Amino acid sequence: MNPLDKIRQLEQTSRLLEPDDNTRACWQTQTNAYAESFIHKGKDRKAYEDSSDNALGLLDSPIEEQPLDIDKVLKLVEKSIVPPGIDLTSSRHFGYIPGGALYPSALGDFLAAVTNKYASNFFASPGSVRLENQLIRWIVELMGYPETAAGNLTSGGSVAHLIAITAAREAYQLKAKDYHRAVIYISIQTHHSVLKALTVTGMREAEIRYLPVDKAYRMQTEQLPSLIENDRKKGLLPFMVVATAGTTEVGAIDALDSIADVCEQHQVWFHVDAAYGGFYILCEEVASKLKGIARSDSFVIDPHKGLFLPYGSGAVIVRDRRHILAANSYQASYMQDALQDEELDPASLSPELSKHFRGMRMWLPLKLFGLKPFRAALTEKVYLARYFYKQIQQIPGFEVGPFPDISVVLFRYVPATGDINEYNRALVKALLQDGRIYLSTTTIEANYYLRLAVGVYRTHLEDVELCLQILKEFTAKLS
Ligand SMILES: *Cc1c(COP(=O)(O)O)cnc(C)c1O
Repeated sequence: MNPLDKIRQLEQTSRLLEPDDNTRACWQTQTNAYAESFIHKGKDRKAYEDSSDNALGLLDSPIEEQPLDIDKVLKLVEKSIVPPGIDLTSSRHFGYIPGGALYPSALGDFLAAVTNKYASNFFASPGSVRLENQLIRWIVELMGYPETAAGNLTSGGSVAHLIAITAAREAYQLKAKDYHRAVIYISIQTHHSVLKALTVTGMREAEIRYLPVDKAYRMQTEQLPSLIENDRKKGLLPFMVVATAGTTEVGAIDALDSIADVCEQHQVWFHVDAAYGGFYILCEEVASKLKGIARSDSFVIDPHKGLFLPYGSGAVIVRDRRHILAANSYQASYMQDALQDEELDPASLSPELSKHFRGMRMWLPLKLFGLKPFRAALTEKVYLARYFYKQIQQIPGFEVGPFPDISVVLFRYVPATGDINEYNRALVKALLQDGRIYLSTTTIEANYYLRLAVGVYRTHLEDVELCLQILKEFTAKLS
């Protein structure tokens, strides 16, 4: 075939990638119809769907040369992909650290994908870069950091930790040959993503000192200065303390100010994991406990938790921008302060280059709702957790962990006879089978606990009441 004919023939088929107006409208209408029915049926769905199939049906539809109709594609979504497991948008999802998924974020993702703006580099896409940096500056101000700070919108807290740790490494000019002499101080409540980030960077070779926690599961800091001094005397390199502002397991906020004092005095990098708790600074009832974040060298905060965004939204902020640039920028000139008045390129602050324009999914809800309902929703979650903490103790047999610092309540049922852990395991199994509420669990010092994490924006009093009622019914039945 003559090359021009070949090109024309290929063009015929490749033009299939550009749907016409009618096709776009049809796909849009049908996708939207599914999304609307998903949202409308939220209250009728179980918070946990125990499915034996577990999306296996999806595999009957492999990727093939031929296209599939939108009806059939959406059937797969509706029948196989979405139902099994936890409904992470449910108002009765109380497991892990939930958030929901604000609707305008879906529209933000849609706009980001349609326009494909390149949120990596200012030259290519000044608008998207300005937008992402504006969001970063908002977080910087909110948490009381100085203007010299810089940061990045990441896929989540885990990647955010990775970036913070590499920035700290650059600040301390730590070389791979010295990793085994570096010392990192964490607590037994520190989230495993910190250790994972250390593994990924090769820094798991460092000495990890696990500090004990007090009765409220906050890091005990009394020993910290002497630990650091002893390590220095031994020729080790005290490098970093990781505090948590809202632990995943129990929601405890470490004593940030006293840890900041020690870090300042001993010149150790102070990193705060505020993935869960950070945005609760918008809530008066919690803000004072989070003030110490302002004194850290870096922190991690998750909009897909505290701002109720869909998954795929974290953030990292580093107080001194030079260090985050040193770890990620591919041009030494970016490390100079000469660019202070310019917009930093997100690609110079992250391991990613071509990245999702994820600022759009955060910006759109903030613009469309304004901050007021966010403050109210976060404060409501705090009060709901406190309400549950009080009410669950009214049901005979239940005992609770510490008073919630934020919105996680630890509790368990103590039966009159028999093994406590076994009883609570059976209780959770029954709750999963029922599926109306989803609670996650944890084991602390060999004790099995249930956790109630109030975090979905659409969780309100009626949902917490239902949860209490179900717990009451089930324990009455099991006992
Ligand atoms: C969720 C969480 C993380 C991990 O963040 P991802 O966004 O899941 O990667 C880290 N630390 C804490 C305290 C968390 O709650």
